Amino acid sequence: MPSHTDSLASPPLEVPSPTAPSEVPASSVRQHPRQDEFGFEVGTRLSGPDGTPALGRTGTITTPHGQIRTPAFITVGTKATVKTVLPESVKEFGAQAVLANAYHLYLQPGSDVLDEAGGLGAFMNWDGPTFTDSGGFQVMSLGSGFKKVIDMTPVETSGADDAVAPGKERLANVDEDGVWFKSHLNGDMHRFSPEISMGVQHQIGADIMFAFDELTTLHNSRGYQVESLERTRRWAQRCIAEHFRLTDERGAKPYQALFGVIQGAQYEDLRRKACTDLGAMPFDGFGIGGALEKENLGTIVGWCSETLPEDKPRHLLGISEPDDIFTAIENGADTFDCVSPTRVARNSAFYTPNGRFNLSGQRYKKDFTPLQEGCDCYTCTHYTRAYIHHLHKAKEMLSHTLISIHNERFVVRMVDDAREAIEDGTFFELKERTLAAYYAGKPDPQGA
Ligand SMILES: [Zn+2]
Repeated sequence: MPSHTDSLASPPLEVPSPTAPSEVPASSVRQHPRQDEFGFEVGTRLSGPDGTPALGRTGTITTPHGQIRTPAFITVGTKATVKTVLPESVKEFGAQAVLANAYHLYLQPGSDVLDEAGGLGAFMNWDGPTFTDSGGFQVMSLGSGFKKVIDMTPVETSGADDAVAPGKERLANVDEDGVWFKSHLNGDMHRFSPEISMGVQHQIGADIMFAFDELTTLHNSRGYQVESLERTRRWAQRCIAEHFRLTDERGAKPYQALFGVIQGAQYEDLRRKACTDLGAMPFDGFGIGGALEKENLGTIVGWCSETLPEDKPRHLLGISEPDDIFTAIENGADTFDCVSPTRVARNSAFYTPNGRFNLSGQRYKKDFTPLQEGCDCYTCTHYTRAYIHHLHKAKEMLSHTLISIHNERFVVRMVDDAREAIEDGTFFELKERTLAAYYAGKPDPQGA
């Protein structure tokens, strides 16, 4: 793993000493009897190229709606739909679980609607495991208009804590108790707090929920990161208390697991402190969130995996590219979500083992081969590039559906292969082979 010590240097703050994977503390902290209805079991541990233990692992998450074999790619269904794809196809391309967005479903149609429908899975006709994120990311990113991944140059700039991206209006304000934000749909003011987020997520009814946290950006000062991390810690405690209260109050419903979210931006001491603080709380698992640069992804996930309790699953919130997926798995992420397969499909980009290409090109007009030779997905076994190119040119929506099915299948299969490779001890060979072929293909610059 490359060292980023220089760019990540920061004053020390109660740094716990790093531990080797084999010494990672196991925590069986459970404070609610119903937490036994959710489980995680570690399977095979990844060995490094020189035979030393690495952080990656296989495992099995057990939820009331079935199991997830990890590492697993969690398909994103933001508004209770995997965009343009039927749930039957989602099952067929091999998705093990779907992640929806609490913020979007709270605003539309309202979490009470999902509650009355019998929860997210019943509402969207998906009988497998489901996740919701807390809404914190969407609410906070309205605040500054920043994307999740931004460059980290002016980290210590004074006044940056109030920075707003060019052309963006500040739509959210954080205080000790929660956040006021303006709906992106109609401008109405709404309040999110740890208690409100828990209430919304219990109503939505996903198997795995995330604690409400404050998102910072890499532009926030270190002082603000420290302050924010403390607030996220206090919010985590409030989320657990409200979650247990709602679990009792809604006793007839399937148990919903709660994951704490690790923030701390690019600072090792802050990330490890968050892992130690939240790791001691009775969460069912953890999310690794917040601002991180692509090049530091492995380092930051590695710090978290070393410091968090070994016996609980870790979800990496929102990544996008094949190299990020291998990096995340190698450094101990058990599950991760990613909107890219369907997002790029709507721009007619498709994945192949030799890179990402864009079907809008004229060279596909009479290309009667599948998107990927040998792919077992519904699209590749029934349709040609020429046909989907035609659909795209004719602005027919079926092109989004067909490309999305292939792209989702491509990523699911890549993660399935990585899981098997951990089991057979061939992970690093697979990683090298896969990434060399993918990035040697010089993907079409218009593929984004
Ligand atoms: Zn395919």
